[in-house]
Amino acid sequence: MAVTASVPHRLPEAPREARRSAGEISRPMRLSVLGATGSIGTSTLDLVSRTPERFEIVALTAQSNAKELAALAIRHGAKLAVIGDESRFDELRDALAKTGIRAAAGAGALTEAALEPADCVMAAIVGAAGLRPTFAAASQGGRVALANKECLVSAGHVFTAAIARSGAELLPVDSEHSAAFQVLSGADPQAIDKIVLTASGGPFRSWTRDAIAAATPEQALKHPNWSMGAKITIDSASLMNKGLELIEAFHLFPVSVEKLDCIVHPQSIVHCLVSYVDGSVLAQMAPPDMRTPIAVALAWPDRMGAPTEKLDLARLATLTFEAPDEERFPALRVARAAMRRGDTAPAVLNAANEVAVKAFLDRRIKFLDIAALVEETLEAAERQGAICAATNLDDILSVDELARILSNEKLSGY
Ligand code: NDP
Repeated sequence: MAVTASVPHRLPEAPREARRSAGEISRPMRLSVLGATGSIGTSTLDLVSRTPERFEIVALTAQSNAKELAALAIRHGAKLAVIGDESRFDELRDALAKTGIRAAAGAGALTEAALEPADCVMAAIVGAAGLRPTFAAASQGGRVALANKECLVSAGHVFTAAIARSGAELLPVDSEHSAAFQVLSGADPQAIDKIVLTASGGPFRSWTRDAIAAATPEQALKHPNWSMGAKITIDSASLMNKGLELIEAFHLFPVSVEKLDCIVHPQSIVHCLVSYVDGSVLAQMAPPDMRTPIAVALAWPDRMGAPTEKLDLARLATLTFEAPDEERFPALRVARAAMRRGDTAPAVLNAANEVAVKAFLDRRIKFLDIAALVEETLEAAERQGAICAATNLDDILSVDELARILSNEKLSGY
């Protein structure tokens, strides 16, 4: 199968003195957090609360949790709070009355929040809903700390082109990509033999295929190592998350798809391994706590403190690795195929997976139906000619919409 994507490399490479970071600018870093009430958003604000003098909070956003958003905005002295769901606006406005914090609502206001002047935007909205606001943040030319993996999965070429156009600085927040970023820093692309992302294997790592097929949402939501939002937790259980991350890595790092791989590592201590042509393998290790990669993204090229557990290898004693099993975890195979297909296939993959995960959580389909529904949607999109080159965000959003229609149609057959 042809590999249609190119080999970009757009991570910050500027000399140290040219980079902006919380440690280098004399004034506090102006920071906006999109998706402030979520798992990544609250971890980011937890770090901020430990060194408040380093940050000035500009805008915070959420979708429907107006009460929590208002509380965060007040606690961190934000200038603006935006709620996506317009029906929650009154609740937000009332909670912020007499605080001097501006309140706004709606999808357009989320994008405007991302355009408020800031040194760094933490892009942590879940799903394709984060595309427009994150693109807006990228157009600003400041730092984009990217947790919203959907930007790279669905719109990789278009997004990295937008980053290049504005001169923005893209810092990955996903732990494996943060690890690769740290390990690869300054590496000659020609010297890289392989980038291997680790996967915990999720709660079903040792389950039989039959048991996985019968898994309930409650069982899938019990991640053994990481505490995350519901969507990514289900993706971790199916290994779709690792497939999405391979696509993400393809757009972040200067290697072809053949040089990207993943390995199951149940302890989640090693986050990525980079092997070089001379046989050296460099790895990044840290306890499984997202505050480490978030701190890297905020402070790079400096380091800032994070209140995480210290790594104690003697106590851990054993780190193990095993090959992923695509027979029991077909989502990984489907995602890899979409990555190799290129063009808009990853956008279809992502949209269909969002529909499928929601259907699984709503108990409309079984766990293994997630991968089946995504694969069927990819096939249908290919037949309709919807897997093609995309040149802008509107193209991507049209394909995303079509994929949701196709997968919802197929859902009725389950
Ligand atoms: P959560 O579900 O915990 O939080 C999502 C945030 O986005 C919330 O603030 C939520 O607001 C907001 N939101 C939800 N839907 C919309 C919408 N339609 N429009 C605007 N805002 C919306 O997600 P996570 O923090 O787990 O994940 C965020 C992103 O980071 C995802 O792309 C995920 O893949 C990625 N990521 C997460 C990791 C983790 O450890 N959690 C690790 C690596 C990557 P509200 O609370 O009001 O619903």
